[in-house]
Amino acid sequence: MRVATFTIAGERRVGLVDLDRGTVAPFDLPVERAESGVLALIERNGAGVPATLSPLPLDRVVLEAPVPQPRRNIFCVGKNYHEHAHEFAKSGFDSSAAAGAVPKNPIIFSKVPESVVACGSAVQIDSRVSEAIDYEAELAVIIGKGGRSIAREDAFDHVWGYTIVNDVTARDLQGKYSQWLIGKSQDTFCPMGPWAVTKDEIDLDTAGIRCFVNGDLRQDSRIAMLIFDIPTIIATLSEGITLKPGDIIATGTPAGVGIGFTPPKYLKAGDVVRVEIDGIGTLENPFVERPR
Ligand code: MG
Repeated sequence: MRVATFTIAGERRVGLVDLDRGTVAPFDLPVERAESGVLALIERNGAGVPATLSPLPLDRVVLEAPVPQPRRNIFCVGKNYHEHAHEFAKSGFDSSAAAGAVPKNPIIFSKVPESVVACGSAVQIDSRVSEAIDYEAELAVIIGKGGRSIAREDAFDHVWGYTIVNDVTARDLQGKYSQWLIGKSQDTFCPMGPWAVTKDEIDLDTAGIRCFVNGDLRQDSRIAMLIFDIPTIIATLSEGITLKPGDIIATGTPAGVGIGFTPPKYLKAGDVVRVEIDGIGTLENPFVERPR
């Protein structure tokens, strides 16, 4: 099941996407429930999937992030692909590099919920604040069933599905402050979408993840190459933190980010970043200079 959050005629709806027909069929949900996006399906408390109304052409709706306002910060995993861990450690921006390029335990940070923007929305570059803006293509896990001290073998019982996140990062701020939150949470720095898919839609053993900047392939890897896999991430986070339905966990980015190049290839106004994950779709966002 492919589930989009969108607006039509100024009203937010949640709907079932049919890619073959190019349509999205709104779920029959009260308007106030649809406000929470995909959370309206996740928080059904066993009531099942609601009926759908007449399908609409996808090109007539405006996509929003699947969860437009996450209830709390997005959990993120740092340095979770081997080659990326090495390129980041060499870049000089990694305040954790002294402990070695490849972490012994997952590095966890977060992005504030207000940084989320939809597929197609502009990511704002504020050149007064940062001149080192980078992209990070990532698979994001959406928690369905909450829990604490979740065992690795039970982890997928707690996964509702997945979406794509571009973990946009101000490298200079990430390096300046030893905690990464400021560099990761700038306004508009969490493009998410284009929609969410239930966990049956993606084969984690084979799914590819790619990132293009202005059509130029920069990142090209597979989800199976994660250093800390999804069960390990969920077990680590939930050991002493109760995970809640609708929590979002960005799982880390492969090699090929801008700081992996010499000289670095930072993003500038006018660039378009496209992230693809097999089984989910394509998340594409233009980058613009923040209006003054
Ligand atoms: Mg990241």
